[in-house]
Parts: sequence; structure tokens; C-alpha cells
Amino acid sequence: MIRIDQLIKRYGALMAINGIDLHVPAGELFAYLGPNGAGKTTTIRILTGLTKLSSGRAALNGHDIEKETLAAKRQCGLVPQNINLDSELTVSENLDIHGRLFCMKPVARKAKINELLTYVDLHERSKSLVKQLSGGMKRRVMVARALMHSPRILFLDEPTVGLDPNIRRRIWSLIKKIQQDGTTIFLTTHYIEEAEFLADRVAFLDKGRIVAMDSPIKLIAGLGNWAIDWLTDDGMQTAYFPSRTAARESATAKENGFTLRRVNLEDAFLSLTGKKVQ
Ligand code: ATP
Repeated sequence: MIRIDQLIKRYGALMAINGIDLHVPAGELFAYLGPNGAGKTTTIRILTGLTKLSSGRAALNGHDIEKETLAAKRQCGLVPQNINLDSELTVSENLDIHGRLFCMKPVARKAKINELLTYVDLHERSKSLVKQLSGGMKRRVMVARALMHSPRILFLDEPTVGLDPNIRRRIWSLIKKIQQDGTTIFLTTHYIEEAEFLADRVAFLDKGRIVAMDSPIKLIAGLGNWAIDWLTDDGMQTAYFPSRTAARESATAKENGFTLRRVNLEDAFLSLTGKKVQ
């Protein structure tokens, strides 16, 4: 559904994307994980036709984004990082404008708005001005807007940034539901637990390159499933073990105490790049 071959994006001397190959099959929920400036948004901007690639190829559902830009754009919906709704318009007016831009007929637009506002649980707010909504509600309106033209692929750029944990989980449920209903999802995030919870596959991005790509379970298992952390004069140290027993046995020798825990995706990212995602 998404195909990227040898993608490069330069901004002057800066290589924002430095030779990425990526194939996302239909129905997958794919997460793109990396620290600030890794190239996540740039990749999404290229795939959604908002910025030009420098070299390489990219296609959405078989449509080359350079040669068949309009057809490629019709395949996807985008929820950008920043809230860019019209705050002086109502919820349903925001969706209606999007439907018009995609040349949807009035009857089809009305039906789709009703369907989507029920889907994102905001039907009772359809006539509210966007400026009167909470942050989590605005995110759900953005998701509904991106789905107006029934895209095959949904791009979500940091969909839960700045939301409190309860609201974040609500958005996660919505994202899962959209995937279960057949949409391919490409998600960027700083939140490790978000990728771990949602994604079928994750790519770790660092300085415009993919440094690892696999299912969260396999990326974690590559390190060992258990970790101990302990404090030394040089700071926090961590070691990884295949079993809880092995971790405990090693840890008993630590003089200043230790923490025994499950390995997570942050550990996998840290061990591959030497840096934290957040
Ligand atoms: P964040 O998590 O902070 O959103 P990101 O992984 O999405 O980061 P990008 O926004 O893709 O990173 O940026 C990748 C690199 O490209 C950064 O070094 C950024 O400064 C640079 N960059 C992005 N857009 C432009 C632009 N329009 N002009 C020049 N440089 C840019």
C-alpha cells in the first residue's frame, strides 16, 4: 500500500531523509519512531504530496507520488501534528469543507459527516464551534476530517502529542478501530508505549535513516526480555537478560540496589542509536 525506494530529501546541505526503503502492506499499522529531527514529518510530507522528494521513488496504492500526484493524494488522509482546524467554524462545517475539496456531492457529504461524527463519538458536538472543544475532541475531529473521502491510507503525525493519558488511550482505541475497519495506518510518534501498543511493525529512524524495522515483540526480544537498572558513580547502568531468573541472579551482586523490569522498545531504540526517543 505504501512503497518507498531509496528516498532522499535534502534541505541545502542537510540530508533530512538519507536513503529510505520501506514497504507497508495493506491493513498494517506501521509506526515510525525517532527523536526530534529524525525525519518523521518530512517522510509524511513527501508521501502526502506536501513537499517534493530530492531523489528516489514513493507510491501509494500503486500511484507514484510524482507522476500521479492527484491519484496518490486520493489514496490518503492526513492528520498533521499541529491542529489546523478552522476554529471559527463548527465541527460539521470543517468536515464539509474537506468533502467539497474532494468533490463529494452534498448528499454524500452529509451522510459521511453523520457517519464519521458517530464513529469518533462527537455526534452531539456537530454544531459546536471548534474553538469550544477540548484538545482531545479536536484531535478526533481531525481524524474524522481525514477520513471524509474514505482514504485507503491514514497518516497520523504525532496524533496524541500534548494529550493526557486517558484521552491518549481513547485516541488509541479509535486508531485500532480504523485499522480493524481496513485502513492502512502510518503513524509517527515520540511515545514508545504508543508504538508498542498499536503497531504491527515499527521502524526506528535516526538522522534520516532507518536503523531497525520489525514487530515490537521481535525488536524487544532481540535484546532479551528482562532488564535490570542500577546506579553507579557513572550514572544509571542497564543490562539485559533472556529470562527473569538470569536477571535476578546477576542483580543480587549489586550493592546499591537495582530495579528489575521488562525490556521495552525504548531499550531497543537506545541500544541501537545510543539515544532516547523522547
Ligand atoms: P519532530 O519529532 O521534532 O517533529 P521529525 O522527526 O518529524 O522531528 P522533521 O521535521 O522531518 O523531523 O525534520 C528532519 C530534519 O529536516 C530536521 O533537521 C529539520 O530541521 C529539517 N527540516 C525540516 N523541514 C525543513 C525545511 N522546510 N527547511 C529546512 N530544513 C527542514
